[in-house]
Amino acid sequence: FRDAAEPIDEIELAVEGALRPASLAEFVGQQKVRGQLQLLLDAARMQQRPPDHILLSGPPGLGKTTLAMIVAHESGRALRLSSGPAIQHAGDLAALLSSLTPGEVLFIDEVHRMARAAEEMLYLAMEDFRIDIMVGKGAGATSIPLDLAPFTLVGATTRSGLLPNPLRDRFGFTAHLEYYEPHELERVVERSASMLGVRMPAAARAEIGRRSRGTPRIANRLLRRVRDYALVHGAGTEADIETVDAALDLYDVDRIGLDRLDRAVLDALIRRFRGGPVGLSTLAVSVGEEAETIESVVEPYLVRIGFMGRTPRGRIATPEAFAHLGMGVSEAVLG
Ligand code: ATP
Repeated sequence: FRDAAEPIDEIELAVEGALRPASLAEFVGQQKVRGQLQLLLDAARMQQRPPDHILLSGPPGLGKTTLAMIVAHESGRALRLSSGPAIQHAGDLAALLSSLTPGEVLFIDEVHRMARAAEEMLYLAMEDFRIDIMVGKGAGATSIPLDLAPFTLVGATTRSGLLPNPLRDRFGFTAHLEYYEPHELERVVERSASMLGVRMPAAARAEIGRRSRGTPRIANRLLRRVRDYALVHGAGTEADIETVDAALDLYDVDRIGLDRLDRAVLDALIRRFRGGPVGLSTLAVSVGEEAETIESVVEPYLVRIGFMGRTPRGRIATPEAFAHLGMGVSEAVLG
């Protein structure tokens, strides 16, 4: 159930798309952000102009892409999807921007991973709807100004701290998406279950909500595995709490929703580094994962539930984390 690390196959992707809420009213949770966005969209509609540029930050799977789609849908505009890693040269961005139709919404996922030269081009494009295209090299190089159609940029990032200030300042609205509460995820499951034709009592939905790491994408994915389990083991389209428990145990999702990688990180932190402090890259190497995945996917949730702390000298495990792995602090430290 990893987000950043595991490739999702095409069918899973299509099902995920089908479960996406199409309007702000259907979008569960994030009440504050929803209200702010609604105001932004209403004002733009009244003034008959494209909405201001929007920056959405937060861990993967909390609804950034979904919100970009909703912005386009609710303002009746076309949507173009791109991502930072696909924009490796200023020319890539110039081609993208100059092909936008008036008022189009441009979504750039992982906007912090764009090439530096493209980032600089984007400043001017966002502010004045204009870019300068460099032609030629060396002393003979000239820049040709090119006017663009007005557009709305929706940028998404898991690491807003990595965005240069001049870029961040050019977004008219910045929102940080928070992890969802279990009762909100229960509502996500309820909505998705009815769309997938799975019947579940409230207790079963709540159990998936509790074990989804605060993340709607994970709630939907766990629901699909529960549905598979019910189908294969004879309950058909009904999934009760026993089915949920059996399916999630099979997929190594523990009682509080931690998966294998979460537990591997805690295990390394506690057993190998005696609770820390330990540097992020050392920790990442010890579990065979990219430091970026640990930092943007694993760590935020473990910090949020109070299992991990960040100190100037590195990451530490809290007594709650020791208890979750069934160890006393002194046991690990004295080793
Ligand atoms: P990434 O950064 O990894 O692309 P993301 O933040 O863009 O993730 P989305 O792709 O928007 O996440 O959301 C993942 C899935 O979770 C979507 O398919 C959608 O069905 C569901 N989802 C996300 N947020 C909500 C929500 N608030 N209410 C209902 N479903 C949601």
